[in-house]
Amino acid sequence: MSNITDLSKTGYCKGIQCPKMLWLDAYRPEEAENVLSGTVMANGDLVGALARNYFGGYSLVDFSFVKSEMVNKTREYIDAGAENIAEAAFQHDGLYCAVDILHKNGDGWDIVEVKSSTELHDIYVEDMAFQYYLLTKCGMDIKNVFNMHLNRYYVRRGELDLKELFILEDCTETVKQKFHDAEENIASIRSYVSVSEEPQRDIGLYCEKPYQCAYKRYCGRHLPSHSVFDLAGMQTKTKYKHYHNGIITYDDILANAKAIKLSEKHRRQIESIVFDRPDEIHPAEIRSFLDTLTYPVYHLDFETFQQPVPEFDDERPFQQIPFQYSLHIEHADGTLEHREFLGKEGTDPRRALAERLVSDIPMGVCSLAFNMSFEKTVIKNLAEQFPDLSEQLMDIFDNMHDLMVPFRDGAYYSAAMQGSYSIKYVLPALYPNDPELDYHNLEGVHNGSEASAAFADMASHTPEEIAEIRSNLLKYCGLDTYAMVKVLRRLREAAE
Ligand code: SF4
Repeated sequence: MSNITDLSKTGYCKGIQCPKMLWLDAYRPEEAENVLSGTVMANGDLVGALARNYFGGYSLVDFSFVKSEMVNKTREYIDAGAENIAEAAFQHDGLYCAVDILHKNGDGWDIVEVKSSTELHDIYVEDMAFQYYLLTKCGMDIKNVFNMHLNRYYVRRGELDLKELFILEDCTETVKQKFHDAEENIASIRSYVSVSEEPQRDIGLYCEKPYQCAYKRYCGRHLPSHSVFDLAGMQTKTKYKHYHNGIITYDDILANAKAIKLSEKHRRQIESIVFDRPDEIHPAEIRSFLDTLTYPVYHLDFETFQQPVPEFDDERPFQQIPFQYSLHIEHADGTLEHREFLGKEGTDPRRALAERLVSDIPMGVCSLAFNMSFEKTVIKNLAEQFPDLSEQLMDIFDNMHDLMVPFRDGAYYSAAMQGSYSIKYVLPALYPNDPELDYHNLEGVHNGSEASAAFADMASHTPEEIAEIRSNLLKYCGLDTYAMVKVLRRLREAAE
């Protein structure tokens, strides 16, 4: 039976970020929203399991709901002379942790904390400080404390090289210096959660960093429906600065516009709501954008996925791998042709995609993307990887135009865009309540994250399921470029 002041390393890190998180976990857990990404968790599990092999063979402490069983198993492994123990569990005075890898070092041990990121973060040091404190209290002689994370520059060639894939960062000195801090933090977190009356704590930057808190809606329930937090593109820390200075509502912001150097874009976003303004349309500016296009226009959209551990040759951790594109070819008379590519599940899709792309898009034609920096990056990476296709790929790169420009530059603005010029806001603003353009009406895949996850996971499904997933992906990506066709049409109407 666990006690309210029991603390794991996850709980400790939450308490460091904001102790009220732990208080809410204890007394109001029903207020939490799901902010954990399934992909992030799966990545963590995958990297953690792979990292166990870094030092050679290892003994694994299997998970049990009874913590003492894991602690006893760890002790058995230690007594039996194990060199490496994965998920080594320790308990002391209501504190608990499972060390990712406990590595034998002479007459002592090294703690190795594994993360699926590509760099060390401050919160990881707090995590390791808790482990070091607890293991020391358990009588373990800890020589070193390492953070093991992915090497973003590693490029896979053949078999995975774990010594190159992972970087071991020595955090021993920093962690050891935090021993007394950890003791004080544990006492302070415990005293915070021991009080049953709800503590008063205002929202702050700690609600966002290092992790987004699950209680933001609950703790932000006093905010008005339109507040400084709704301003698109404003830095989060700037929003909190204004909030803590009492500049919260749209009226507050307008009243302090000069002092806070309110940008024209934010003024427009706010005034469109406060004064219920109609759409703002500048036909001449839209025309000058349209004049840069030549027909036929090739509306292009890629889908990509990322893997923490490279599966293919010439792949780095978290590299964007394009696996799909949709291409709507719009002729001057308005007729449309549709082409598409979707890689085969479980294979490296890049070569086949690049070959099909250069055969679908002739040299010298006008291609169009929405927020083209993403599409251009994908094309440039393909050109670097496949020099024989580089000339044709870079021709597409050079002749690409960005459909986002008229919205980004304010040539067309609607209050419904909520200050954003992403297509997910622009499209429903231009075509409200159009079921044909509503991503919610799609089956299975409704956004880029779901598309990435669906492709990454596809090979593990049955042939029938794969057929359905492929169909969902094709419909999703096809809607992306069809939406661009419709957006361009609305711009032409507006220009007239
Ligand atoms: S929303 Fe902010 S104040 Fe509320 S518990 Fe989370 S971090 Fe703390």
